[in-house]
Amino acid sequence: MRRSAPPRAHRSRLAAAERALPSSMWHATAGPSVAASTLTGPVTADVLVIGGGFNGISAALRLAQNGADAVLLEAGEIGEGASGRNAGMVNPGQFLGPAEIRAVLGAGHAETFLAELGGAPALVGELIEAHGIACHADFRPVIRAAHDSASAKLLERQCDDWQALGQPVEMARDDDLAALTGSTRWAAAMLDRRGFTIQPLAFVRGLAWAAQEAGARLYQESRVTGLARDGAAWCATTASGHEVRAGKVILSTNAYTGALHPAFSDPLVTSGAFGVASRPLPDAARERILPQGHSLYDTHRIPLFFRFDPDRRLMVGSLGFLSDGARAPQAWAQRVIDRLWPGLPPLDWSHVWQGTLGLTSHGMPRLISPEEGLIGTVGCNGRGIAPNCYFGRMLADIALGRDCPMPLPVETGAPYPARALRRDAMDAAMRLYRNTFLLN
Ligand SMILES: Cc1cc2nc3c(=O)[nH]c(=O)nc-3n(C[C@H](O)[C@H](O)[C@H](O)COP(=O)(O)OP(=O)(O)OC[C@H]3O[C@@H](n4cnc5c(N)ncnc54)[C@H](O)[C@@H]3O)c2cc1C
Repeated sequence: MRRSAPPRAHRSRLAAAERALPSSMWHATAGPSVAASTLTGPVTADVLVIGGGFNGISAALRLAQNGADAVLLEAGEIGEGASGRNAGMVNPGQFLGPAEIRAVLGAGHAETFLAELGGAPALVGELIEAHGIACHADFRPVIRAAHDSASAKLLERQCDDWQALGQPVEMARDDDLAALTGSTRWAAAMLDRRGFTIQPLAFVRGLAWAAQEAGARLYQESRVTGLARDGAAWCATTASGHEVRAGKVILSTNAYTGALHPAFSDPLVTSGAFGVASRPLPDAARERILPQGHSLYDTHRIPLFFRFDPDRRLMVGSLGFLSDGARAPQAWAQRVIDRLWPGLPPLDWSHVWQGTLGLTSHGMPRLISPEEGLIGTVGCNGRGIAPNCYFGRMLADIALGRDCPMPLPVETGAPYPARALRRDAMDAAMRLYRNTFLLN
């Protein structure tokens, strides 16, 4: 099998950065990690789930709740991938609006996608409530801000399309916009009342506790290195040589699939995404930056995102791998603040971390089943908390043989055209963009 490796120059830096979950603000504030052991002997299950992020844990929870014998193997710790590293902005669907989604998926799947994924943030809210997950859920709407007049027009059209579907979104302009953002740099914004924020690592850990309570067996530090059919069963082998045999496999490794199965890694171009967080802000800065406490992401091609945690720490983030030098991310974050909220004293930046996400050629997730009994979704294009909670549950329902809505067509995993070249070009473009054009 071919390996989906980053360009050679990035490898050592990435290896170190990717293992550095403890460097994130979420790790510092998430509370206890999940008590789950390493796989130390042979195990059988009805369904094996590989990957312990929102997708895999949601699948394991749903399977166990429905009486299936579910085993989950996670290579690192639960939440080790993008699920423990993101900005915690729970949004419906994708960056695309209804018209673009219809153009990609065609009428049948698109209407199901819009209806089902529109409700996915509510599903996250239900999971938090049902399982009493302490993850700092803050139900203030999420703001999407337009960085120029052309993007403002796009947002207005998307807002009209969402409203036509009865979704609670609205535009903010002029004084309202300035009052919401504390900045005059954005041209307009869409307030999405379906969205809210969470502490993402605390949420994925809480889901994992719930899955264990329901009867799912979760193993950490148990990387799957081989996956093959053996008669009617699937057999997964871990790095330490232990085997899990199961009738069905849900592959929830998303942008971290690597060499495990090309049908799930080849349809993606992987991209870095990162966060830089401050220590709790002093009053003057807290009252200027997003003064009403909302979270915000914008329409730049390489978007900027901002949010607070309950202790007034500010997270600023964007896309791309961090390979610009030791203090560069903090300097970048300070430039962003100076540009958008000029005149404040420099902030005290305490945490820098990054994760990997998967981009697809059409900007929408893909549902992949290359062989009987093996299924997964990949490529949430940076919009993956609510969608992956939904998809995990959906994949479990499919594995259980239940009827369920199908928001995506089932594919066999066609490669993203020229993905290695694209990955390198995108990475270079993202770095250039964030360090130059983004701030113009
Ligand atoms: C910095 C950043 C900011 C983001 N911000 C947002 C946001 O605000 N809102 C939003 O909706 N989305 C956001 N996203 C995207 C979101 O985090 C992802 O879409 C989502 O977490 C993916 O969940 P997942 O369960 O599919 O994959 P992951 O959480 O990546 O989980 C995959 C897991 O599989 C494991 N794994 C891989 N290979 C193996 C193997 N061989 N054996 C066993 N286990 C394996 C990995 O260790 C990993 O834990 C952001 C992402 C990043 C990186």
